[in-house]
Amino acid sequence: MELKVGRKKKNTKTVINVKGVEIGAGEPIIIAGPCAVEGEELYLDEAQFLKSLGVEILRGGAFKPRTSPYAFSGLGVEGLKILAQAREITGLPVVTEVMDPRDVEIVAEYADILQIGSRNMQNFTLLKEVGLIKKPILLKRGLAATIKEWLLAAEYIVDSGNEQVILCERGIRTFEDYTRNTFDLAGMVAALDLTHLPVIADPSHATGRRELVGRVALGAVAAGADGIMLEVHPRPEEALSDGRQSLDYNEFKKLMDKIKGFKSQSILL
Ligand code: PEP
Ligand code: MN
Repeated sequence: MELKVGRKKKNTKTVINVKGVEIGAGEPIIIAGPCAVEGEELYLDEAQFLKSLGVEILRGGAFKPRTSPYAFSGLGVEGLKILAQAREITGLPVVTEVMDPRDVEIVAEYADILQIGSRNMQNFTLLKEVGLIKKPILLKRGLAATIKEWLLAAEYIVDSGNEQVILCERGIRTFEDYTRNTFDLAGMVAALDLTHLPVIADPSHATGRRELVGRVALGAVAAGADGIMLEVHPRPEEALSDGRQSLDYNEFKKLMDKIKGFKSQSILL
């Protein structure tokens, strides 16, 4: 059976327009922000800094999937409200994760893009639920999902009625433990060939180490990613989650300059 998300069914690229930002239109878009929304002042300051550097979409988790039940799990609805304030101030769209089908309605009320995290890629109830809304969905690849399983997860959303799905390669679990995950660049490129949906990369979760993030991001851009999602924090050592992989402001600015230079050299595929 031909999948609705497959190139055989539709060979023109799907372009997703989020408040004027086009994802899948050729130019890689940059999504950035902290792993989690940690507080109002911190987030609003960061949002304005990121906007000043040309970031197109803001990220920040309000409902966080954490390995330990004792770890900071996000500010919940308060975090959603801070995201909405950041959108108000900067004019930029915001993306945030939804973990529970019961929260889809409230998250959709505040967010412009709803993220399905790696750990929920095969939560079929959740996939069907976000298939019923009219907002774009950012679908992360599961920790140990094959490309086919990833595409089938997207198919659940599209088949439920929501064609606005963005796939995100964020590294898969392998025997390697120096890096947090193994960034599957080949998998990202294969997905770009197999589906008409936009495919972006998340080098932060893919590497787990800030010193590797920039070069992996550039590799993904060179290979044709429709976008890059990056974790940035003003003081990564104080971050409540994922500080080790978060870029500080200086590092992020340097990377943005490189990405801009890279784009203008038009060596891209
Ligand atoms: C995140 O984006 O902060 C996140 C939890 O990502 P993943 O689901 O890829 O681990
Ligand atoms: Mn994170």
